[in-house]
Amino acid sequence: MARTPVTEHERRIRDLLAPLRPRGHESVPLAAGLGRVLAETVTSPIDLPPFRNSQMDGFAVRAADISPGTTLPIAGEIAAAAGSPAPLEPGTVVRIMTGAPLPEGADAVVPVEDTLTPDGSTVTIASAWAAGSYVRDVGSDLPAGGDLLPGGTRLGSRHLAALAAAGLTEVAVRSRVRVAVVSTGSELVAPGSALGPGQIPDSNGTALAAAARAVDADVVLEGRVADDATAFAGLLDAALAAGAELVLTSGGISQGEYEVVRETLEPLGAHVDVLAMQPGGPQAFATYRDIPVVCFPGNPVSSQLSFLLFVEPVLREVAGLPPRGRGARELDAALTSMPGRRQFLRGRVLPDGRVATLGGPSSHLVAALAVADVLLDVPEDTTELPAGSTVEAWEL
Ligand code: AMP
Ligand code: MG
Repeated sequence: MARTPVTEHERRIRDLLAPLRPRGHESVPLAAGLGRVLAETVTSPIDLPPFRNSQMDGFAVRAADISPGTTLPIAGEIAAAAGSPAPLEPGTVVRIMTGAPLPEGADAVVPVEDTLTPDGSTVTIASAWAAGSYVRDVGSDLPAGGDLLPGGTRLGSRHLAALAAAGLTEVAVRSRVRVAVVSTGSELVAPGSALGPGQIPDSNGTALAAAARAVDADVVLEGRVADDATAFAGLLDAALAAGAELVLTSGGISQGEYEVVRETLEPLGAHVDVLAMQPGGPQAFATYRDIPVVCFPGNPVSSQLSFLLFVEPVLREVAGLPPRGRGARELDAALTSMPGRRQFLRGRVLPDGRVATLGGPSSHLVAALAVADVLLDVPEDTTELPAGSTVEAWEL
C-alpha cells in the first residue's frame, strides 16, 4: 500500500481546522494575561513617567546656581510619596529621593555621591551639573496616547509590567481555541497511580495538553478511556459538552485489535491513513458532531511529533504566534534513515553548534525525547547522510 506523504496530511489537517479561525477577542485582567496574545495595539492612557521626578538620591537644584565647590542651604526634603512639593527657592537646594517629584524651579538633580553635608544644613557640591541631569521628564519613556505594545504581542512579565505602569487593569486578547485531549488504551492509568502488570502511566495526555497550552490553547477537558467504544464515545460527548472546538485523541488507530478510535470514528466517516513518516505512520481525523477530531497514534514520540507537525502550526497561526524555529544544522556523525519514510530523529545540539542523534529512532523513547533539543527532519528519499552534511532541524 502506498503511504501518504506528510505534506498531504498537513494539508488535510489544515483544511479540517479551518473553522478554528478567525478568533474573537476577550478582555482579561492583567493577572490572567500571562502568555495570552494581544488582540490589538494598546496605547498608554497616561504619560510614562506620569510626572517629572528624580533619577537619583541627592539634591534638587537649579543648575544655574551651582559650579564646582558651591555651598548652598538645604531648604527641605522630598521623599518618593504622594503629594506636590513646594517650589524651590533660588539659591537653595532640597534633598530628594529617587522617584520623588521634582519641585517647580529645580531643573537638575545632583547625586548624593557628589556632595558633602558637613553640618546637615548646607551642602557643598563638587562638580557642575547641566540642566536635565538625573531628571526623568514627563512622558520621556512614552507620551500619553503613544503605542505601548503592538497587537500580536505574546504577553510576558515585561509586557504586563508596561500595562500595569500605564495604569491598565484589563487587556484585550485573542480568544483561545478550546481543546479536549483524550487518551485511549486499556493499559493506561493516571500518572502517579500504582502500576499493575501490563499498565503504564498515560503520558500522552500530559504531553498533548501541555503542547496545546504552549501555543495558547485552552484545554477544557483532559480524559482517558479504556479501549471501549461506548466509553470513548461518551468522552467525546463530554468534550463537546465542555465546549471543545477541537478534540485530540491518542492511540487506537493502528491495524491491530482493540483500535477503539478507528472502530468508533471510521463508521462516522473518519479518514484513517498510514503516512510515509517515522515515527507516527498511522494517522486519522474525523468530524464528530461538527467538531474536528485529530487522531494521533499512541506511541509517545509519535503522538508528540504528530501534534508538532500537523496541529501546532495551525494553532500558532490562529493564535497569531510565529512558527516554531527550524533551520539547517550540520551533522556531527553519519546517520542512516529508513527508505521511503520522512524520518524524524531526535538530536542534541553540541557546543560547536553541530547536532548528534540521540536515543535511536523508535517511537516509544519518551525519556530520550525529553532531553533532545531538536528533531532532525530526514527526507523520504534519503537513506544515508555523511558526517558534516546538513539536515533540517526543528527546535524543541
Ligand atoms: P496504540 O496506538 O494504541 O496502538 O498504542 C501504541 C503504543 O503507545 C502502545 O505501546 C501503547 O501502550 C502506547 N500508548 C498509547 N497511549 C498512550 C498514552 N496515552 N501514554 C503513553 N503511552 C501510550
Ligand atoms: Mg492502544
